[in-house]
Amino acid sequence: MKFATRFAPSPTGPLHLGHAYSALLAHDTARTVGGRFLLRIEDIDTTRSRPEWEDRIYEDLTWLGIEWDDTPMRQSDRLSAYLAALHSLWDRGLLYPCHCTRRDIVAASSAPQEGSEPTHGPDGLIYQGTCRVAALRTGPMPENTTLRLDMQAALWQLPTDTSFGFDETGPVATDPPSRLGFTAQDMIATVGDIVLSRKDFIGSYHLSVVLDDAVQGISHVIRGKDLFEATKIHVILQHLLSLETPIYTHHKLIRDETGKRLAKRDDARAIAKYRAEGATPRDIRRMVGL
Ligand code: GLU
Repeated sequence: MKFATRFAPSPTGPLHLGHAYSALLAHDTARTVGGRFLLRIEDIDTTRSRPEWEDRIYEDLTWLGIEWDDTPMRQSDRLSAYLAALHSLWDRGLLYPCHCTRRDIVAASSAPQEGSEPTHGPDGLIYQGTCRVAALRTGPMPENTTLRLDMQAALWQLPTDTSFGFDETGPVATDPPSRLGFTAQDMIATVGDIVLSRKDFIGSYHLSVVLDDAVQGISHVIRGKDLFEATKIHVILQHLLSLETPIYTHHKLIRDETGKRLAKRDDARAIAKYRAEGATPRDIRRMVGL
């Protein structure tokens, strides 16, 4: 497969130095190997995404000297693809509606349990399965409700010789990858029944990202280490939806002077702010170690 990578920001706030690093790394790698660099606007969460942040993303990336191939993909244009994938999983009995509130989930997971299973996975608290009853899976797929993947049923449906794992290149995407494996048991115990569609919008980050990476023909996903655990979920979804698993590079995270990872609310490190103060794109590259 020809090398293609992407930068996939959510338009929910200003791009900061961490985004600049991720975008520049993916862009430079694609250009070095003569591959493609694509842009995807992850605006599936309509409650938090704003068009003005999307405009700012284009502005900041252009200022940084980043050019992307093709028209950017927008997740808000892809809802029918997400819905089709949800229907396919629903028809196989792998989804169930969940009516638990956050408070219910916290209460269920703080109830005394045997052993010392972890309570947190890549999606926050591991769901205790209150709504995981077969009766709720019959009939047409419900709309405007939270849908969860029954992780155990999903893993059972996959061929017994499925190899769970992905190729990870380490810090440089062009380095030879090494295979990182995990077990089905890990997924049940440490991830559990993740949400694949939300009450207020169709789909979820995990579902949309695997479908979009596949349709954009992404051969290499270059993104932060914070998403390393989520990649295991993406691999399971790729198996369930018969999609290829790309090669992954989980790069270092840009931290502030106290060692904390930058977040969207770190406006102080917004690229636009540095620009307004007279920094050049070269200064930004230096600040993130490129
Ligand atoms: N939209 C995600 C973010 O802004 C990135 C997802 C990804 O790269 O897979 O953090």
